[in-house]
Amino acid sequence: MQTADFKKILKRLERVVSQWDAPVVTLIARTGEGPFRVLISCLLSLRTKDETTAPAVQRLFAIADTPQGILKIPQKEIEKLIYPVGFYRVKARVLRQVSSDILSRFGGRVPDTMDDLLTLGGVGRKTANLVLSQGWKKEAICVDVHVHRITNRLGYVKTRNPDETEFALRRKLPVASWRVINQILVAFGQNHCRPVSPHCSTCPVAKDCSRVGVTHFR
Ligand code: SF4
Repeated sequence: MQTADFKKILKRLERVVSQWDAPVVTLIARTGEGPFRVLISCLLSLRTKDETTAPAVQRLFAIADTPQGILKIPQKEIEKLIYPVGFYRVKARVLRQVSSDILSRFGGRVPDTMDDLLTLGGVGRKTANLVLSQGWKKEAICVDVHVHRITNRLGYVKTRNPDETEFALRRKLPVASWRVINQILVAFGQNHCRPVSPHCSTCPVAKDCSRVGVTHFR
């Protein structure tokens, strides 16, 4: 698939996904209340559905939404606030460690480079790219399982994992599309191009999709 065709698909999907709730991290980013909130909500959202993450994030931010504030909450209390997000005990520890690192090594400011973000425990490329693109409004491509799956199904990239997809997209996709691709494809992947049995029969981009690897669909 050529980049021009892929961009047309993104445009079409952008209109389609406006009918659904945006991914939880996008909703947090839209409040404009800063990269720390984006970072924390992204960490909580890992391996957790948005409908579980959203209320957990609200409960936590009602008590604290700064590194200093998080460190004032005992580990057990954070666990209670964020339960039942996946791996809530580990995540409670990560939130305190990340907050401590941001205060001790970065003067209380969330880092704004990939290299620095990756030095924070629990932060991988996906989280770092989301903080850069949605927290700091920098040009970055956040590739999660949805972006990886859909760009491969469409036949735009041919990659084995999200990191490979990120680098393939960085080579092929114009910078102007980097920040929007995550918001569009995450919403589309959560609601329509599902991991198992996607809704191909009613898909607005079906005629342009190669359906690579799709064996069952609705
Ligand atoms: Fe996904 Fe099917 Fe649509 Fe292709 S046709 S984008 S596999 S739902």
